[in-house]
Amino acid sequence: MDKEQKMNENTVRDLSGKPNKIEIKDVSFDYVDQRSKFSALDHVSLDIKEGEFICILGSSGCGKSTLLGLLNGLNKAKAGKILVDGKPIKGPGPDRAVVFQQYSLFPWLTVKGNILFGIKQSGRKYTKAEREELADEYIRKVGLVGAASRYPSQLSGGMKQRVAVARALALESDILLLDEPFGAIDPKLRLELQELVSTLCTENHKTVVFVTHDIDEAILLADRIVVMEPGRIRTILPVPFPHPRKRDYLIGTDGYEILHRKLIASFYAHVEDSIDAEVAL
Ligand code: ADP
Ligand code: MG
Repeated sequence: MDKEQKMNENTVRDLSGKPNKIEIKDVSFDYVDQRSKFSALDHVSLDIKEGEFICILGSSGCGKSTLLGLLNGLNKAKAGKILVDGKPIKGPGPDRAVVFQQYSLFPWLTVKGNILFGIKQSGRKYTKAEREELADEYIRKVGLVGAASRYPSQLSGGMKQRVAVARALALESDILLLDEPFGAIDPKLRLELQELVSTLCTENHKTVVFVTHDIDEAILLADRIVVMEPGRIRTILPVPFPHPRKRDYLIGTDGYEILHRKLIASFYAHVEDSIDAEVAL
């Protein structure tokens, strides 16, 4: 069976009839201290559909984490607004789970304890037995059976991020926000974790905003890739491959090569712009 055939066994996700889950409307954000003001985001707008997987792709310092901080509610926009389900966000909330690059696990809790914490945070009324059962289910889903009673200090980096993903899923929020969650993981493990996140988010119908500076990661995961340049969205490219994706099936197909080239062109375009500007000086 060739690669195209294998991929066509799944269907491309059709989100055209879905409502907007997140609306970013003309948002600007400045970092201000006593002496200076720095514009990190300048009039950014983006609508994200319910069940959509968005990757925010951009080089370091573009404002990706700042944008995620706004979605999370930790940063407050200077101008513009962000709506979730049509309502302005007022700060962090259990409707939006977050996974950061640095493992933000509680060191005093075991793997299961960390996941149980996520379940409790969800605010749903489970009995103790139900919570235990759910925690075991998430531990199975992320492949950590056997490590449930270990503490974070006894886990590898990849295992810690599995726990962070499980804890975020255990919150049972509609929205998942991830900021370069696999940036510090070695390439083979990273691919496993990417495929795991792709599968789990598809199964659980999550709306996802995933920040990365890795083009291959973005193509593997996203329905649309939002390419940033400093402070702004440069371009948005749809990724027309079925989910869940396997990198082996993607690489070598025509669509993959073309998209990859387009992304490289826009990813590095602002770097070239600034070189041009320097040359012009
Ligand atoms: P990215 O996540 O794309 O690497 P960030 O959103 O972290 O970028 O940062 C965007 C820009 O804002 C960068 O130029 C960075 O130096 C600046 N910045 C980030 N955090 C702060 C801060 N707390 N104070 C001042 N400037 C900041
Ligand atoms: Mg960042």
